[in-house]
Amino acid sequence: MYMKINQQYIKNANMKRLYSVLKNNTDGSRASLARETGLSKTTVSSLIDELILKEFVADNGVAASGMVGRNPSHLSLTGDRHCVAAIYWEPECMRGTLVSLSGNVIQRQSRTVGDNSIYSKELYQLFQALVKKDRTSCQVIGLCIIMPAMIDKKNQRILSTILSLENDTNDTSVIENIRKEFGMLPIAFFNDTACLAYAEKLLARQEENTFAYVNLDQGIGAALFVDGKILGGASGTNTQFGHYSVDTNGIPCACGNRGCLEVMVGERALERLLTECGGSEALKVQYSLGYSDIGRAALSGDPAALGVIHYIADNLAAGLSNLISLFRPERIILGGSGRNLGIQFLEELIHTVKSHGFQRMVEEVQINYSALGEDACFTGAMEYYFDNCFRFTEDMEGRTFLG
Ligand SMILES: [Zn+2]
Repeated sequence: MYMKINQQYIKNANMKRLYSVLKNNTDGSRASLARETGLSKTTVSSLIDELILKEFVADNGVAASGMVGRNPSHLSLTGDRHCVAAIYWEPECMRGTLVSLSGNVIQRQSRTVGDNSIYSKELYQLFQALVKKDRTSCQVIGLCIIMPAMIDKKNQRILSTILSLENDTNDTSVIENIRKEFGMLPIAFFNDTACLAYAEKLLARQEENTFAYVNLDQGIGAALFVDGKILGGASGTNTQFGHYSVDTNGIPCACGNRGCLEVMVGERALERLLTECGGSEALKVQYSLGYSDIGRAALSGDPAALGVIHYIADNLAAGLSNLISLFRPERIILGGSGRNLGIQFLEELIHTVKSHGFQRMVEEVQINYSALGEDACFTGAMEYYFDNCFRFTEDMEGRTFLG
């Protein structure tokens, strides 16, 4: 039994390697794949045949020339033949996509949800709508549910301070209820910040192996890459940067602590901060105040908005310089709507970080905004699922992955 599992494991790893080499291999011949992977030509041929059979790889050479065995055939990925359904579950809205293995968002659909929603049913209806809308007959190899939550694998539960998960938890857990709705479809539950960080690592081709991705939104989260590996996988359970206290006598937080970054400088704190900074006529808005409003007003020199920016930079810098002394990242990437605070904020933050903390470490760190777009968390989830959950060699039916 052990041998069999071991062989399957190696076989899957080799197939993944071939798949990954084919992503960048322009030659696309079996011989070049053998050279690049160090696998024997026989192994490459048999694994490629299996990938062709499963429709993950296409053999264009044979089809084009019609002369089997004469030309070294040109292999390529059939990246749009398979996809992952990725649904971002936020407090008021669920946004769903189908993301092909080549990273294209081929379908999108969203659903408004509220306190009375039965979330497992909403998720299923959104999934159905996505699949029905898709005319490309792309095969769904799994569902990723992306949540602003801690995906606690050890205790088989999901903890969130901003999603109300009670509607589904009369007797059973939200995980079980969702599992029941979706039958045999493989399902993965991922933390949102981890998905964004994974997209950053892969899509932005982050060269540093040790870096932090900090998501600045209504919630504040961080994912840490140490020696190329994301700490805690996609669970979001190893780091709670949003509940990092920067003032032990500060404002009470829902988590039980005081002065957590999330209550001090999260997007929901903006109205309070603006009032404390003297208020602003220009920012008397009807809707809830966002980082983009503050960023815009600061750009035109609004004193209260500038005060808010100064306050956020100061407090976030305190958190960041401690984070830096903890694991010495080469880079810190700031993502989320916090990017809308603009270049003034970023410059002030960098300046404050560099003048705080342990000098030797803070002076070497690069800090920048993420350049990835709106779909990053969906593509990040797809890539994470494909790399870490999906197996070519195993029956995936009914599998559940937590983080
Ligand atoms: Zn807290």
